[in-house]
Amino acid sequence: MSTGLKNSVEARKKGARLLILLMVLFTVMVFPGDPRAESDLPLFDAHVHYNREAWEGLTAEAAIAILDRAGVVRALVSSTPDDGTLRLLEQAPDRIVPELRPYRSQSDMGTWTKDPSVLAYVTERLRRGIYRGIGEFHLSGEEVNDPVPRGFVELASRHGILLHCHCDEKAIRDLASMAKGVRILWAHAGMNSSAQTVKKLLDAQPNLWVELSMRSDISPGGVLVPAWRDLFLKHPDRFLVGTDTWINSQWEGMPENLDGFRKWLRQLPPAVAEKIARGNGDRLFSP
Ligand SMILES: [Zn+2]
Repeated sequence: MSTGLKNSVEARKKGARLLILLMVLFTVMVFPGDPRAESDLPLFDAHVHYNREAWEGLTAEAAIAILDRAGVVRALVSSTPDDGTLRLLEQAPDRIVPELRPYRSQSDMGTWTKDPSVLAYVTERLRRGIYRGIGEFHLSGEEVNDPVPRGFVELASRHGILLHCHCDEKAIRDLASMAKGVRILWAHAGMNSSAQTVKKLLDAQPNLWVELSMRSDISPGGVLVPAWRDLFLKHPDRFLVGTDTWINSQWEGMPENLDGFRKWLRQLPPAVAEKIARGNGDRLFSP
């Protein structure tokens, strides 16, 4: 082969190598392997239960695998009975923030506010020193003045932990006023309270935080409602996201449910989205 021909073959080989390199680069840039790894918002899920009904079909290991799939880096967990929370905590101690559910069984749910044995149970169980809150519990109307909720305020203050309440508007107002020195997390933003009502409460109660599980109404069709957007911009430090895995289908749907949150979070400025997605949870429950 002449020197000229040799050089031209070498040049063509070099060209082909360069072309392959460019194609590989293009593929990596346009089709990244796992879109979640790079672009998705890691989340703090502020409303997880691992109740008895879930245990058989979903081992603690499998539940943590769902958190992985859903991009949940930490989760506030409470369960009926509390053993469910302890199982998850044992499986992933760095990711599970345990709170003490006062219901030993479902039947406590309707009677707990006046049942002294619930207060004794919670008082005793908190001695373990592992819990970061009491909740999620349910209160409505005048029930805040019943003896057990009053006792919870006292216990939360003494232990420096939070109260997580599925409260109606009257109950959350009364609870936040009664428990001045205690941080309160309002489950589901009252379930159906308007942005305007939530704003009034946040303006008036510096000890109140709000989680947004089960509130698909704030982004119908995936579009953030302007009144809620304004509220998130006004109080970016006071909101958290959550799924509420109160039944097994909520566990199965967790990844999709949280992608729904990501969709509207991306409609906010990135710094605000990051706080609501994860930062506020990490600050409320700093390790
Ligand atoms: Zn719940």
